[in-house]
Amino acid sequence: MPTFKDREVQAIQEEALREIRAAANAADLERLRVKFLGRKGILTLILRGLKDLDPDLRRRVGQEANRAKKALEDALDQALADLKAAARRAPAEELDVTLPGRRPPLGHLHPLTRITQEVCDIFLHLGFEAVEGPEVELDYYNFEALNIPADHPARDMQDTFYFNEKVLLRTQTSPMQIRVMEQRRPPMRIIGPGRVYRRDSDITHSPMFHQVEGLLVDRRVSFADLKGVLLAFAHQMFGPEVSLRFRPSYFPFTEPSAEVDISCVICRGLGCRVCKITGWLEILGAGMVHPAVFEAVGYDPEEYTGFAFGLGVERIAMLKYGIDDIRLFYDNDLRFLRQF
Ligand SMILES: [Zn+2]
Repeated sequence: MPTFKDREVQAIQEEALREIRAAANAADLERLRVKFLGRKGILTLILRGLKDLDPDLRRRVGQEANRAKKALEDALDQALADLKAAARRAPAEELDVTLPGRRPPLGHLHPLTRITQEVCDIFLHLGFEAVEGPEVELDYYNFEALNIPADHPARDMQDTFYFNEKVLLRTQTSPMQIRVMEQRRPPMRIIGPGRVYRRDSDITHSPMFHQVEGLLVDRRVSFADLKGVLLAFAHQMFGPEVSLRFRPSYFPFTEPSAEVDISCVICRGLGCRVCKITGWLEILGAGMVHPAVFEAVGYDPEEYTGFAFGLGVERIAMLKYGIDDIRLFYDNDLRFLRQF
């Protein structure tokens, strides 16, 4: 049968534990430690008073009081540790719904795709229609029908990837001219972007690169029309201040043929490293469609005339963005691509 003193110790312990559980902060816990376990604390006074008790009661109350002291010390330590842990957790659990959202990283169009679209857009606004053709092409469309027969020396101008004698990777977008003319009758205005392949690789040549082909056929089309269309293109692509220069050249499928330069966009024609001090940059090849090409597709060269041109997308992109190594376009290096 527990004595009054036993029950008193138990009641004190229960009250203390209840207050410790209700403590809101470290200062409350310290106040409770002083109240129960401090020099003049309730339990401390009981332990000190043991010497005045009967030996039997002293032993029982002493055991009970020491056990209660240990329980309160443990409870205080635990409560303090819990408070500290909660303080550390708090910032992570707090959700601030007023913060702006985090954007997921977004890609963008490759610079070559952008230039291709820009070039095509300009011609679409001039009334041209975009067409596409196969990259694996027949020798007939890539060479033969473009006035480049088997023994023609012009074949040496382009190192070709052959699958066999008749099938190859197209070396130019010009086969699309033939494919479209075979299917339709003039008038026609087409623009054909696409990949082309040649056995060539250095800092300005890649075995795969991109061209945009243009073709306009109608009655009474003249070289002046070609010049007008290309001037409109150059002004929209590079700015109204650039001037255009035609140099006589040779392509088997056009006659006359020209290489077309714009005044250097870097030095404005004064001469710099990019234009090799000439003040001019070559941007495309062009000419009047050769009568032999019209004959290959069954058009009467006495009735129809037309012009064709082809430009290198990489060349335009390198000039426009000031890039000096063509291989940067194909490396997929994000540090490069993010600059556009
Ligand atoms: Zn220059």
